[in-house]
Amino acid sequence: MIENPGNVNAIYEQENYTTIITFSSMKSIYSPPLFLLILLQSFTTIAICQDVDTLKLKDFRPVSIYKIPQTNIERAKYPVIDFHSHDYPKTDEQVDEWVRTMDQVGIAKSTILSYSTGSRFDSVVEKYKRYKDRFEIWCGFDYTGYNKPGWQQHAVAELERCYNKGAKGVGELGDKGLGEFYSKPTAGWGLHIDDPQMRPLLEKCAQLHMPVSIHVAEDAWMYANADSTNDGLMNAATWKVDMSKKGILDHDRLVNTLENAVKNNPNTIFIACHLANCCSDLSKLARLFDAYPNLYADIAARYGEIAPIPRYVHDFMEKYSSRIVYGTDMGTSKKMYITTFHILETADEHFYERDFFNYHWPLYGLSLTDETLKKIYSDNGKRISAYQQRK
Ligand SMILES: [Zn+2]
Repeated sequence: MIENPGNVNAIYEQENYTTIITFSSMKSIYSPPLFLLILLQSFTTIAICQDVDTLKLKDFRPVSIYKIPQTNIERAKYPVIDFHSHDYPKTDEQVDEWVRTMDQVGIAKSTILSYSTGSRFDSVVEKYKRYKDRFEIWCGFDYTGYNKPGWQQHAVAELERCYNKGAKGVGELGDKGLGEFYSKPTAGWGLHIDDPQMRPLLEKCAQLHMPVSIHVAEDAWMYANADSTNDGLMNAATWKVDMSKKGILDHDRLVNTLENAVKNNPNTIFIACHLANCCSDLSKLARLFDAYPNLYADIAARYGEIAPIPRYVHDFMEKYSSRIVYGTDMGTSKKMYITTFHILETADEHFYERDFFNYHWPLYGLSLTDETLKKIYSDNGKRISAYQQRK
């Protein structure tokens, strides 16, 4: 989850505010000097925090004053399959609690993108085995010895072993320019998804009907200078991509590696994570959708990026409703799920959410049609399920 450096200050301000409020009722208990000290400290802190000349964007916490309708969403309008989650719980009790939250908000099934192979993968399967119909576990690729010729033989064997243990797909693979580095325990630095060396692995995925979930690049804000002109500054600064690294591929070239892999492996379903990190220019993803029927995209952790342009994204998602799947990638809290439904389902305007998205801008509901919601929430997932079950 995206860290929010502003939270600490917010709590501090809140505490000081509480101190002031409680004073009048506690006057008789505190001796004047102590009280005056607290009062002085409180006012000083607030004065410093609220001085507009020194107020920082990271501390900006606007509260909407518009008197306009805001919808109270308690659960998803239709049952949901989440295609982008991770192995967050540490204990069995936390797994139980997660299932209770899923029940409350309407998540029928969560895909655990484990990144893992070997014993690491086996332990994830073990953790969720009490809820086989609620969680689907996907594995990583095993890049052990990938700099020596013939490494793929072992990698393909491990993929098949994970499949037999219950892996229904592969993911989340991840390449931010220097190669596949998400898989655990061994990364494949320098290997991009369209590298001919990856061919045997992707062909095995096609043979086993295992979809591949892959994160390429970052969104465009993270490539722009982290300065006063950066439209999405606070989050852009957190996730800044350092393009000075030797051999690093830029955004377009990374999307191109994805395109090559999708093109060269027409019998493998690919799910581009986070709308292929093309949120600021969805026409790039539209072109890929138009060209390749084996490509899907998840919307995980990109709600903050699409909610500022609701009409454009509404039309995009309506048009490509058969290719987009729901995802979260932001933990397991009820508030997180509700926030995603609020953005997808309502036409609410000008609301803020800083806990999950580190942007300073207000958000707008996408007001998706029921037909599109059903597809994104579960119909497309059912189609992917049918592919997985093909013999
Ligand atoms: Zn993820």
